[in-house]
Amino acid sequence: MVYKYKPEYADLIVSCSIGATGDGIIMAEAIGAATVDMDRVMPTPTAEINSKRLITAGMRNTAGAILVNEFGQRFVDETLLYEPLSIAITEEVAEGTLEYVFEVFDEKGKESVPICQTYVDGGLTVQADTLEGLAEELGIDPDSFAKTVREYNQAIKEGKPDPFGKTKARNPIETPPFYGIKVKPGHLATRGGLKINEKAQVLDLSDNPIPGLYAAGEVTGGVFGGGYIGGGFLAEATVLGRIAGAQSAIDVLSQ
Ligand SMILES: Cc1cc2nc3c(=O)[nH]c(=O)nc-3n(C[C@H](O)[C@H](O)[C@H](O)COP(=O)(O)OP(=O)(O)OC[C@H]3O[C@@H](n4cnc5c(N)ncnc54)[C@H](O)[C@@H]3O)c2cc1C
Repeated sequence: MVYKYKPEYADLIVSCSIGATGDGIIMAEAIGAATVDMDRVMPTPTAEINSKRLITAGMRNTAGAILVNEFGQRFVDETLLYEPLSIAITEEVAEGTLEYVFEVFDEKGKESVPICQTYVDGGLTVQADTLEGLAEELGIDPDSFAKTVREYNQAIKEGKPDPFGKTKARNPIETPPFYGIKVKPGHLATRGGLKINEKAQVLDLSDNPIPGLYAAGEVTGGVFGGGYIGGGFLAEATVLGRIAGAQSAIDVLSQ
């Protein structure tokens, strides 16, 4: 369905459940349900390429991880929002020979985001005691990579602006060991889906509720518009799920 509605995101890592193939939307459409915002697929910028596991935004926004390309160079403000950052990474990857970029941080960064230990324990990271050693582990040019990180650290210490406009989580990467993860954008969620009203009733093409059909969570569309508030997808699933349950009971009891 992503291929059909948002082909430019078709090659993202499938970091969601393999069961999430849009069956609910297809079944509801077959009985006349309307859909909304189907092209508003929501990527996550960083998923680890082998495990397909999402690497939390906290690594970029709290730990201060940087992203470097296959030449060991930064190319973006790592604290951009999910969608613009995903697009920037996808474009960077398209210009190179590798399918991914590298997310890099140091021990201090790792300690600042507790879930990061599970990435290390799960074998998602490589690590080394020096920047050059890390570059070798990652298969990129040691001199170029070390220069990138040293210049990045220097600019922070001298209070100079970041060349890519990064203003948050500018933490020097200087406390060994150093860590790297191979990442590219993956699927987080879809903001499109079945059109519903505030009672979680699924609407038909004329905006009338389809009797007995309710929807909540991923299968719905239009709740977020073009944006996303952190935690909002889980909140949508639980809040609308509760509303759908209550409404279905009200509808049955009133018959
Ligand atoms: C890696 C990742 C990280 C995320 N992080 C966050 C986050 O930090 N904050 C946030 O708010 N949201 C996050 N999300 C999004 C959020 O997890 C989902 O939006 C939410 O779990 C959707 O819940 P749901 O119950 O609507 O759908 P799902 O959890 O997808 O449940 C649907 C269920 O239906 C089953 N199913 C599908 N087809 C059929 C069928 N034909 N018959 C029977 N069963 C079927 C599926 O197997 C699945 O178990 C994340 C998503 C991913 C993938």
